[in-house]
Amino acid sequence: MTESNKAIDLYDVTIIGGGPAGMYAAFYSGMRNMKTKLIEAKDELGGYLHMYPEKTIWDVGGIPPIRCDKLIEWLSKQARTFDPTLLFGQKMIGFARQPDGTLLLETDTGERHHTRTVIIAIGRGVAQLQKLDIEGADRFEVTNLYYTLQDLNSFRGRRVLVSGGGNTAVDWARELADVADRVTVVHRRDEFTAMERHVEEMRRVVDVRTPYAVERLHGDGDAVRQVTIRHVETGAFERLDVDAVVVNHGYNRDYGSLREWGLTIGEWGLTVNNQAETNIPGIFAAGDCSTHSSKVRLIAGAFVDAVLALNSAKRYIDPSAAPMAYVSSHNDRFRELNKQLTR
Ligand SMILES: Cc1cc2nc3c(=O)[nH]c(=O)nc-3n(C[C@H](O)[C@H](O)[C@H](O)COP(=O)(O)OP(=O)(O)OC[C@H]3O[C@@H](n4cnc5c(N)ncnc54)[C@H](O)[C@@H]3O)c2cc1C
Repeated sequence: MTESNKAIDLYDVTIIGGGPAGMYAAFYSGMRNMKTKLIEAKDELGGYLHMYPEKTIWDVGGIPPIRCDKLIEWLSKQARTFDPTLLFGQKMIGFARQPDGTLLLETDTGERHHTRTVIIAIGRGVAQLQKLDIEGADRFEVTNLYYTLQDLNSFRGRRVLVSGGGNTAVDWARELADVADRVTVVHRRDEFTAMERHVEEMRRVVDVRTPYAVERLHGDGDAVRQVTIRHVETGAFERLDVDAVVVNHGYNRDYGSLREWGLTIGEWGLTVNNQAETNIPGIFAAGDCSTHSSKVRLIAGAFVDAVLALNSAKRYIDPSAAPMAYVSSHNDRFRELNKQLTR
């Protein structure tokens, strides 16, 4: 990227990713009086929390059990406290250092963003569904091979094969059992990585085949009509008649172009020190995408990472700045807001 950055507004910090780490960073940067932009690849804030919106979260400090979709709502409200610029539907794909040390970021829409610092908070990257690794399977995606479950009613009276063994697959199987003619769950291990109570309930209402893996899809035109499954230990094959196949094999980490940017990436993500600094000056990382010796891969851990990253970004811009923000009860920025709340 060599184009001029003259016409583009300069921000103190640009946060990449709108999950818990990014949302909390957007809030905390307001406490540090920084001009803030957040860029999220999807069209809403929330990040990975959208993968389990109906679940109850118990382990966020100070918040009694709460449905995850409610937590998204509250986090997103808090993130907007100081009116950061929020941009959606743009995935950061690259950056270029400018002669004055600032950074010019590029997103996949071709837009550019000018910033003094960057906080990368991309979690597992833009989550990519792990698809069936079977040649030609993609041609059935237009008919009766599904990777998401949107309209339960469309499965009414059908024979459905569900492949997968995690929370989502188990939940889908239970829901499908209410409407489908028959549900068969195929999983490569005998154990399911889902809530025990849900697994028990699923076993009562569907036909469970373990340890089996989907081996082949047999089509009639563009629709799957039969599926060959293979016993993982004996290698024995079985062929099942189906009207629909639903797959949930989880999500792949997608760090896309991060490596090309020259960032150090270890087995568990972007390597940062205990100040959330990456190996590139002015670029910090927080949340599930980063790794350090005291890492806590939970929402609470993402908040702490966000605070560390923000404080480091502040001091990168102004080395004489205080190491952290004043606590909220002493912070000038809240004085007026407090008055509004008590009016
Ligand atoms: C099934 C399940 C249950 C869980 N339950 C709990 C729980 O009960 N309690 C708890 O504390 N934690 C729980 N967790 C963990 C928690 O969800 C994560 O620790 C948390 O979401 C991490 O937040 P994050 O902001 O780092 O990343 P994410 O939530 O993954 O957000 C990253 C965001 O960055 C965006 N993004 C990615 N790449 C780009 C890009 N290049 N440009 C722009 N945007 C980008 C993504 O679209 C996403 O919105 C659970 C996780 C799972 C999988």
